[in-house]
Amino acid sequence: MGAPHVALFPFPDHGHVTPMLQLALHLASRGAYVTFINAELGHQQLPSFTEYLNQTANLKYAHLSVGISALEGPLTLDVVVSDSSGLGNVESSSLPVLHRSLESQSSALEKLLTDLNGAQNWPSFSCLISDAFMPWTASVAQKLQVSWMVFWTPSATRFYLSTKALGHKEMNTELQKLANITIGLSPESTDVFDLSRLRNPHRRQLLMARVEGTKMADVILLNTFDALEEEAVKELAKDFPIRSLGPLCFGTGLKASKANEESLSWLDRQAPHSILYISFGSKAMLQGRPLEQLAFGIESSNMPFLWVLRSGGEGLPEGFVERTEARSKIMKWVPQKQVLEHRAIGAFFTHCGWNSVLEAVVEGVPMICWPTFGDQPTNKLVIEQKWRIGRGIQGGEVDAENIRQVIQDVVGNAEFRQRGSLLSRSAKSALGQGGTSDQNFKFLMQELAVREH
Ligand code: UDP
Repeated sequence: MGAPHVALFPFPDHGHVTPMLQLALHLASRGAYVTFINAELGHQQLPSFTEYLNQTANLKYAHLSVGISALEGPLTLDVVVSDSSGLGNVESSSLPVLHRSLESQSSALEKLLTDLNGAQNWPSFSCLISDAFMPWTASVAQKLQVSWMVFWTPSATRFYLSTKALGHKEMNTELQKLANITIGLSPESTDVFDLSRLRNPHRRQLLMARVEGTKMADVILLNTFDALEEEAVKELAKDFPIRSLGPLCFGTGLKASKANEESLSWLDRQAPHSILYISFGSKAMLQGRPLEQLAFGIESSNMPFLWVLRSGGEGLPEGFVERTEARSKIMKWVPQKQVLEHRAIGAFFTHCGWNSVLEAVVEGVPMICWPTFGDQPTNKLVIEQKWRIGRGIQGGEVDAENIRQVIQDVVGNAEFRQRGSLLSRSAKSALGQGGTSDQNFKFLMQELAVREH
């Protein structure tokens, strides 16, 4: 049996492309031939991928250069957070347009894979691994008569809850309590199912297609490790062919190499565990009252801070920058993984995107959680209740005093750090020799080899 050739096709969004890139590197280092196919938007967001990937043995980069429909205006994945609930307005993003546009590229993907098969001095593809957000790729794999696997980018807990919520027309309190207990959350936690989202027929349909799609997959790959989400992984394994391969998070810092040096050299000059790092990921955009209250809360905490503000500081309260500049740095983008690794970081103020959460877990950094949309409220509950390495901003109304209080509680909490260190060790051993994720990678390599033509 020769080495297998796998095509990887990520959903074209920063938080989906980067873990899939990590998967590509792992598979290539274990001897598989890997072609990493990036759709147009992913290619635009991370242009330096081409060079980076083509330098790695066994790895090739391919660009699915089909344009995004221009008919519906400029495409933005930004989710604006501007009302006092502190939640993002998901309607402001073009995600549904992107979904439709991608699905219309099915034959283009099939053609690209067929052309690549003939062009390289590599074995033919035997497997397509696609993001679970694109269940339609199953039919492409079927036409090419190759195996189809999916990569589920959010947490295993989220996957479990989605399968449960979609199995019922209306969730009731009893079902919710049961699910909470099963995954190790307090029975009273109410927002785990993200019900408002599921009541919207369009969103329900999208999530349903995603979960239904996974049922066709030969293997479902999860970006987690077994010990991190033990209960959810065990429950899912009863019904789905899942394998946890994570934590797949190393960051890329590809967006701005100058920012890499600047933020890290600033951190080098700070005392250990003294800095509050604030970032809301690649999509959430804080504006108006939420941004103002966050700024006042940070200011009154008196903590020195590194704040990623993609707007560059627009909308901050008057005089905020001048009053805090002796103890702060505001940047548009930083190499987050390296920032979290830095000894100067004391706590992470996060929107709880799954990649950010995993990156903090790997480094054992305590978290202050302000979820804005999607799976983030669930991630917050897991951080607070299950791992107990952070605390969330409570209540519907965002308020500076509340924010100041939570920052101080988290920064001064030695237990959060201790538990964080234990989780960090467990995360690192999962991918180390003989760890659960390492073993799952070995299993995956065998599966791929068996499917080789
Ligand atoms: N990120 C980064 N630099 C920044 C802000 C974010 O490298 O200044 C990375 C972060 O490390 C993470 C990703 O962007 O890997 C964000 O993904 P996440 O799932 O946390 O949130 P999303 O952007 O999907 O909302």
